[in-house]
Amino acid sequence: MREFNSCVDEVEWFGQGPNIELDLNQDDDLGVINNDEFESAGYKEDLRKRMLKNLNKKVPCSSGVVHVTPFFVGQGFKTKKDIQGHMKMLSIKTRRALHMPKNEKLRVRVKCKGVVPDSTGGGPSTVSKVTSKGKTVISQKDSCPFAIQISRSTEEEQWLVKTVIDEHLCLQSRNVKACTSRYLASTILQKVDSDPRIPVTALQEELQMDLELSISRMKVFRAKSIAKEQLYGDYERQYNLLRDYCLELQTNNPGTTVKLEVCNEPNLDVETRIFKRIYICLGALKLGFKSGKRELLGLDGCFLKGPHPGQILTVVGLDSNNGIYPLAYAVVEAETTSSWTWFLECLGGDLDLDASCNFTFVSDRQKGIIPTIAKVFPNAEHRWCLRHIHENMKLQWRGEEFRDHL
Ligand SMILES: [Zn+2]
Repeated sequence: MREFNSCVDEVEWFGQGPNIELDLNQDDDLGVINNDEFESAGYKEDLRKRMLKNLNKKVPCSSGVVHVTPFFVGQGFKTKKDIQGHMKMLSIKTRRALHMPKNEKLRVRVKCKGVVPDSTGGGPSTVSKVTSKGKTVISQKDSCPFAIQISRSTEEEQWLVKTVIDEHLCLQSRNVKACTSRYLASTILQKVDSDPRIPVTALQEELQMDLELSISRMKVFRAKSIAKEQLYGDYERQYNLLRDYCLELQTNNPGTTVKLEVCNEPNLDVETRIFKRIYICLGALKLGFKSGKRELLGLDGCFLKGPHPGQILTVVGLDSNNGIYPLAYAVVEAETTSSWTWFLECLGGDLDLDASCNFTFVSDRQKGIIPTIAKVFPNAEHRWCLRHIHENMKLQWRGEEFRDHL
């Protein structure tokens, strides 16, 4: 106890101050350091807190990198998770296999599982034993002396490092278990943010040089996926927010029409539904089109990229300067007669177009759209888009002469 207090008083790094000898084979020794005694020793609480706060401060170096400090006596942690995090960071930085053989409610022990070379020469000191079941078990003769004891009293919430033996006899390794893809993701977050298309091989090379560890390409690939998910969100989780998005659109754009269609669900007790289609027409655009009175509408569809592909259907009108006037759009499963019918019926309801209206529609010659317009708006004019005809014609007949005759 006296030795422990002297270490705290001096606020020294372990290794510079006096070491505490501890027989790690005796678990009872862990109970020797008692926080209650520590309090009753008359130690000033405020001073101790201030001192620990300063010790725990992570100071970035001149290049802006926060270096991981080794454990030191008196170091405080708020939760056990913080201890595990610090242990993992230290394990990666020092390239040692640190682990927690004792993980209890009030005390924790950190040890090193590293391979200790045989002092007589000739590689690692291992002993092979044959068990009663006939299996051969290889165990270490001498374990690495590195040991950290951390405990907390029942009253206090903070965990305090009580003993530090910061000495390794083991060999450093290039395969550290703590170097997980989730850890790597946190280190490459900024790089992926600045260049989302950075190749996995480039990231792998950079990480291997920085950490001096051997990291597989697959692990870096997973790390990049995690980093991307953290930066841009999860596609599936975004679908969960769709209803909120619809309500937000209607609240902020008065008169907006949003129609969300979901797949039929045979079991009505299921809380979630599978997305099918969505139609959006903003109120202000609707109002502007009605005021413009230009009876011409252009229709088209295009493919969506990403993990959940579908097709987007759009309709545009003309403004008073003959410019393109976006009006409404829908995300549908595919460009089919069914989806076009649904889209045009929604549009008809929004723009007050009935079956007898004589609007002019311009579109490509997609199979679904031709019968749909004839069915939904039988009196309307339907014309083909010249650009689409030219695009198709170019495949067979090229040249300015053909183009001029079009
Ligand atoms: Zn070690």
